[in-house]
Amino acid sequence: MKSSESLLAEDSTLSSADKGLSLDQHLFDQIAQHGHEQVSFASDRESGYRGIIGIHNTILGPALGGTRFWNYETDAEAFIDVLRLSRGMTYKAAVAGLNLGGGKSVILGDYQTKDRETIMRAHGRHVESLQGRYITAEDVGTSTSDMDFVRKETKNVVGLAGRSGDPSPVTAFGTYRGMQACAKFRYGSDSLEGKTVAVQGVGHVGYYLLKHLKDEGANVIIADIDADKVKSCAEEFGAKAVGVDEIYGVKADIFAPCALGAVVNDDTLKLLKVDIVAGAANNVLAEERHGDILDERQIVYAPDYVINSGGLINVNAEVEGWDLDKSHQKASEIYDTVYNVLEIARDEGIPSYKAADRLGERRIKEAAKAKGKHFQM
Ligand code: NAD
Repeated sequence: MKSSESLLAEDSTLSSADKGLSLDQHLFDQIAQHGHEQVSFASDRESGYRGIIGIHNTILGPALGGTRFWNYETDAEAFIDVLRLSRGMTYKAAVAGLNLGGGKSVILGDYQTKDRETIMRAHGRHVESLQGRYITAEDVGTSTSDMDFVRKETKNVVGLAGRSGDPSPVTAFGTYRGMQACAKFRYGSDSLEGKTVAVQGVGHVGYYLLKHLKDEGANVIIADIDADKVKSCAEEFGAKAVGVDEIYGVKADIFAPCALGAVVNDDTLKLLKVDIVAGAANNVLAEERHGDILDERQIVYAPDYVINSGGLINVNAEVEGWDLDKSHQKASEIYDTVYNVLEIARDEGIPSYKAADRLGERRIKEAAKAKGKHFQM
């Protein structure tokens, strides 16, 4: 295992093919541009592990974020991904009111490899080398069983089997609360009774969200590529099922994306007839300008990382020692946070996705000031 410093020091010995990635020219510019405190590289010859950990900001607390295992086409792609994702975690934790900073890690390679223990343990040693400044969890390409291997090398890992457990119920509850806040903002009442909600994706989060919506007396329309899930949810919740391409154009009050990213885009914006977009999916806006268009059309948009922060709240329970009730209470506060974001957007004349960033930056700035530290995003 090499420290970040030793790996960078060896950069001059990289092959010309590797140098063609242009990381050597832009490495520190990229780090500065994203505002990171630290980026750590490690490789382990024995296991073939190659990982990067990005620590964006630790003013509010230790940097927490999952481990993404991905077959990146280039090292540069992995590097940019870790910078982007860890920065996003800073905002997510800050807006959620958690005492956490933003971090993320990536492992480069075949994420379907069967030989997981040696790779994950090498990653665990990399995490451990940062002495608690970074706490990891599962993410795309990793599972709770992978985190059990990481745990053999470091205590700085959350989301283990038998601990905080499946985050989906807490995420769904937070999404439901955020949706109520959007309704309050748009209609003057947060009741969803009689409202029609189009839920895209009835997987882990979508399923629990449907429960909350039905309990409150909302009408639900659903779509999923998995016909079995559609059938069982239609039966259990009396939901109307439509095709995967039809869900965007249905007559509904609220569109709740709970499947994929980039579902608010040039094509779907032509179809959406709703007043509110509020769902758990990550990266809902294909591009920021699509958030501007929602704003221009006066469609209330609950920024994705604000409304879906129940998942982060759930793993934070392990850091703070919270029980499930406390996690639910925190997830319930997503109502206030979403409402606050929508108010900032209205008062400052900006789209809600920008207002969310502003709220996060304000919280970090205040904490930095209290600690006598300087902070600039
Ligand atoms: P999941 O995989 O359990 O469910 C996703 C569902 O979407 C599946 O049933 C899948 O068949 C369906 N789907 C895929 N493509 C579709 C399409 N084109 N049209 C309609 N349905 C489609 O995932 P999940 O854990 O429920 O997460 C849903 C979303 O919420 C993801 O974007 C995830 O990143 C985000 N999220 C989840 C959590 C969590 O706690 N699970 C936390 C934060 C954010």
